[in-house]
Amino acid sequence: MNIHEYQAKELLAKYGVRVPRGAIAYSAEEAVSVARRLGGGRWVVKAQIHAGGRGKAGGVRLARSEEEVAAAARALIGRPLVTAQTGPEGREVKRVYIEEACEIARELYLSLLLDRASQKLTLLAAKAGGTEVEEAAFVSPEKILKAAIDPATGIQPFHARAIAFDLDLAGAQIDDAVSFMTALYRAFGDLDAALAEINPLVVTGGGELLALDAKLAFDDNALFRHPEIAALRDEDEEDPLEREASRHALSYVKLEGDIGCMVNGAGLAMATMDIIKLYGGSPANFLDVGGGATRERVAAAFKIILRDPHVEGILVNIFGGIMRCDVIAEGIIGAAREVSLHVPLVVRLEGTNVELGQEALRQSGLPILTAENLAEAAEKVVRAVKEAR
Ligand code: ADP
Ligand code: MG
Repeated sequence: MNIHEYQAKELLAKYGVRVPRGAIAYSAEEAVSVARRLGGGRWVVKAQIHAGGRGKAGGVRLARSEEEVAAAARALIGRPLVTAQTGPEGREVKRVYIEEACEIARELYLSLLLDRASQKLTLLAAKAGGTEVEEAAFVSPEKILKAAIDPATGIQPFHARAIAFDLDLAGAQIDDAVSFMTALYRAFGDLDAALAEINPLVVTGGGELLALDAKLAFDDNALFRHPEIAALRDEDEEDPLEREASRHALSYVKLEGDIGCMVNGAGLAMATMDIIKLYGGSPANFLDVGGGATRERVAAAFKIILRDPHVEGILVNIFGGIMRCDVIAEGIIGAAREVSLHVPLVVRLEGTNVELGQEALRQSGLPILTAENLAEAAEKVVRAVKEAR
């Protein structure tokens, strides 16, 4: 689960991560009163959406007067903001964060994440932080600094000092950096975060370290331990179909293509997406109905796929192990009847009770194409979609 920048900053500040002073506003009037309360003559008005790239997209605006604060808030609130991370429709901005503007001497990059390969937490840092960092990392990955931290011992000053030296920090900044990274590490562990990213981490004109941006993502499986974080969920920021899927305990990720997939098991789902590509198609989603799915869950999955207007065909690929093929078939038939199936549907079943399942599909009288194997299924659905155009 993701949260907004201002929420991340508030959480991190409690652990001692230094952030600029700021507050949230839902209207231009509120924005002005926040600016007044903060004082100083320069503020930054920042669109709060669950996507980065705001700076380059006009979502972070400097204001030098209360009028400019109001104008910036008015320009952002209630409008979609399109950034490199939002997709072409963008995200509607519902709130803005008003923050004191700070004097920036250097923009650095710092993040903390779990590296599954080494089974360690990894601090990543770079001298060139800010809005160009992704490009820089892509062009010259050797410039990314790393420190692997064993979770058994936790962060030690030497981890942070090594990064600080490599970032060309000096003098009192080294100790500052150690405190900063230690605080970030503690927050990460305590809150069961999956990712913490500070980009940019700035050195201010006065030589201090400050988190100018903050992104925190959490491990969904640990949210039950953190009701105060779960309460920060902003459903407006989530894809409505993904939200519906999570209600039915389905793993669903919407993709750009036009062939909807319903599969059991993440590995089989990946293989199904690959083979659709191999036959010249493009998957509209990843959907794993899980090992022990019920008829109701299959029906829910089916409806979610069909609610995506980009779906022009569906491929169901189920291996019935724990799950019985006849149960799957019933779920598909029930759902297809209920929603009036309007796109070609190819079903490939294999495993327990496969004959019963196939028989049920035949008897249903629905225009369902069946396939014996995955290659045939993929080829059929790609062809059917092309022919239906
Ligand atoms: P995003 O990552 O979505 O582009 P950021 O919060 O990183 O948004 O802001 C983009 C850029 O705006 C930063 O790299 C920084 O240069 C500038 N910026 C952001 N917050 C402030 C601030 N409080 N004071 C001064 N400049 C800021
Ligand atoms: Mg940023």
